[in-house]
Amino acid sequence: MESLETLSDPALARQSLEAVVELAGEFKKKFGRVPVLMEVCGSHTMAFAKSGLKTRLKDHVRLIAGPGCPVCVTDQKSIDAMIQLAEGSNRILCTFGDMMRVPGSKVSLMNSKTDGKDIRVIYSPLDSVKIAEENPDKEVILLGIGFETTIPILTLAIREAERKELKNYSVWMTTKLVEPVMRALLDSGEVKLDGFILPGHVSVVLGKKSFDFLVEDYQISGVITGFEPVQLLSGIYKLLELLLENKFDVLNDYPSVVKDEGNLTAQKLLKQYLRLHDEDWRGMGTIPGSGLVLKEEYAQFDAKKRYEVSVGEPRKTKCRCGEIIRGLINPESCVLFNKGCTPAHPIGPCMVSTEGTCAAHYQYMRGE
Ligand code: SF4
Ligand code: SF4
Repeated sequence: MESLETLSDPALARQSLEAVVELAGEFKKKFGRVPVLMEVCGSHTMAFAKSGLKTRLKDHVRLIAGPGCPVCVTDQKSIDAMIQLAEGSNRILCTFGDMMRVPGSKVSLMNSKTDGKDIRVIYSPLDSVKIAEENPDKEVILLGIGFETTIPILTLAIREAERKELKNYSVWMTTKLVEPVMRALLDSGEVKLDGFILPGHVSVVLGKKSFDFLVEDYQISGVITGFEPVQLLSGIYKLLELLLENKFDVLNDYPSVVKDEGNLTAQKLLKQYLRLHDEDWRGMGTIPGSGLVLKEEYAQFDAKKRYEVSVGEPRKTKCRCGEIIRGLINPESCVLFNKGCTPAHPIGPCMVSTEGTCAAHYQYMRGE
């Protein structure tokens, strides 16, 4: 199959679907089971559900959502800490919209805002710098959440604050890196996978080469794809081809936007401002070197150094987001799904986030 990127053509999608089903049939004949593939990007999870591909393929290819949504993988303690951070006086907290409704142990950021705390939803980290400039008498704190796609933009905001010599600006870094979490998943052996659908946007920053560890260290394949149905199908097809040929490889099926070396300017920014840090993940505990925080020389912009926050052990709920993120269960296995937990009244982040597995399942695949 030719690379099908940039195309969103229903006839071609149908043809591609048939080709994937045929190849999956060959896999089943050869191995006596359906192939199991994991996507590690929340937008892929949404795209699979929204396009109907996950449903159409369910008897042929098992698609599992992994830890790809930055909101979902943020652990409960960090959420409680951010909510407590907002309680401090003379502060403006800036965050992306999805974080607002994620429940903490007691309340959400939305509840704090309703209670009068100054919490603002921003669309770009640079908006938070502007807010700091316009409010010199307030402390402005950006909640720095995201994977490698967002982290370079966070550093741009810090560079801008540095350039403007802002004294009232800082970032509460809770960033996550894709490679360490993929390694942790594979090392745990909890979930048996045949291959990965690799994240298109993260790969733009890191480059195809950053995923070569999959073959070198784990003998498992991955294909970098885009987000249109034909691109997703093309990625699955290429993975199935590798599996049938008993070959391991990392393929770039999104070459118009993903380069082997990635975005060197973005990588330089990360190296200049940030250092590796052991991050806590929802449902996965602390993963060594799985996040980035500000280097010592930028401590004045590090909210974790500037503000004291102390939270206890989070309240336990029946929410099973931790297992959803690890690809161990599907949303309907959670007793709260579509009962206590819906997008209107979410109990866990996987139902809040626009890239969350439970939200995708609720919107497009409920009861299937
Ligand atoms: S930020 Fe981009 S790469 Fe990361 S999960 Fe979202 S869509 Fe995927
Ligand atoms: S359905 Fe709700 S409570 Fe259950 S795992 Fe998903 S987000 Fe958590």
